[in-house]
This record gives sequence, C-alpha cells and structure tokens, in this order.
Amino acid sequence: MRRPIIAGNWKMNKTAREAAQLIIELRDKVKDAKCEVVVCPPFTSLAQVITLVEDTNIKVGAQNMYFEENGAFTGEVSPIMLKELGVEYVILGHSERRMIFKEDDELINKKVKAAFVHGLTPILCVGETLKEREENRTYEVIKEQLKEDLDGLDKAKVAKMVIAYEPVWAIGTGKTATAEDANDVIKFIRNYIRENFGNDAAEEIRIQYGGSVKPSTIKEQMAQSDIDGALVGGASLNATEFAAIVNYKE
Ligand code: PEP
Repeated sequence: MRRPIIAGNWKMNKTAREAAQLIIELRDKVKDAKCEVVVCPPFTSLAQVITLVEDTNIKVGAQNMYFEENGAFTGEVSPIMLKELGVEYVILGHSERRMIFKEDDELINKKVKAAFVHGLTPILCVGETLKEREENRTYEVIKEQLKEDLDGLDKAKVAKMVIAYEPVWAIGTGKTATAEDANDVIKFIRNYIRENFGNDAAEEIRIQYGGSVKPSTIKEQMAQSDIDGALVGGASLNATEFAAIVNYKE
C-alpha cells in the first residue's frame, strides 16, 4: 500500500518570520495526520522551518535546486547545501520553473539525477498547458516529459520518487481537473512507469495531483484509485486550510 503524501508549495511567499509563524500554527493541527506531510518553504526559511519541525511529523522540501554541488553558479543552491540542512524532498520541474525560468527537460533530468545522488527525493512535476489540452495532446506531452525527465534512471530510484501531475491550467486559477480526469492522467503516468521501469516501480511510486486543491476538493480526489496525494500551492499558505486538506480522512 502506498502511503499518501500531501505537500505544500509555498512558492515565493512568506518571509522567514512569517514562515515560522505558519509552521508553529500548523504543527499542532497536523500532528495526527494519516498521510505524510511535507512543506516546501522558500530557501530563506528552510533552516528555521527545519528546526521548528524537529520531533514532529512534518517533513521539509525545497522548491528547486541546481544540479552541481558547488562552483560559479551565482544565485543557485546545490543539493549538498539542502541535504546538510536536513531537507528531504525537492520539487523539480514545476511549471513555473519551466515557463517563467525556461527550464527544459534536459536540465530537469540532470536535477532529478543529482537529487538521487545526494539522497533527496524528487517531487517531479509534469502537466499540460490549456492549449495542449485543447489540442488533445495531454498524453503526448506528459509522455515526452516523462521520457526526458526520467532518462537514465533505474527502476529502484523511480520507485522511490514522487511525481506530481499538475495541469498548468489548473495551477492558481481556481479551476481543478475533475477527480476522474486527474485519475485518468495519473493512471496513464503509472502505466508509463510500468512499461518502462517495471511493475514494482509502478506500484510503489507515489503520484500526486496538483492544481487548485482545496479542503472542498481533496476527499473526492483522494478517493480515486491512483491519486496518492496532492501538491498544494495557494491553500498551503493558510494553516487551517492546509490542515483541513492534510486531515482529509477525518
Ligand atoms: C502548485 O503550485 O504546485 C499548485 C498546484 O498551486 P495551486 O494549488 O495554487 O493551484
């Protein structure tokens, strides 16, 4: 059985002081969660958030990283820097990184590999734009992203990672894919893993849905056969809302 994983992507929100306030509020509200709980604050708050979640059930992820260990890469943060802090997860290939910062699949693949080298678990985001969906290219686009982003990985690594299916048109827009549509795409992703990395990896890998997830949508999403959790943006910035999502089972 796959343990559901719900992660909050705070994006470029919360100063270090605000991040500390949010975590202090959140800790108690999610302490009995049945799923794995992850928060992904900005780099500037990681150290403090990690200290504040010590001895709790909250794990910490970064929102991005570079693939090199160190060197002349001004403004970048490396996997060894994250690992030393106590970061466990790293979001890679988020659509905002792909679109605003022009990250391509070749770069994302290098980052995914580097995460594994340094013992970080990637949360790899894939998803189609509205235009691609309207052109009926959703599956083709996702297959291409998976092919390139997972190139050269072995099945044991793929089994351990997390993939987030995030239709770009549903991120921060208030529009969600129907739970059934999201499940269909997630099933397609799992089948891709089965065909290319074997049945064990397909059964073990956790695949989240992301895109305007709210307390009012999570139950139906989590009731689907193949949705193993959620990557939550906007609603993760409020402790009460994020806790209501994480505690969807109650
Ligand atoms: C995200 O940033 O990954 C996301 C899904 O955002 P939102 O929940 O705000 O749509």
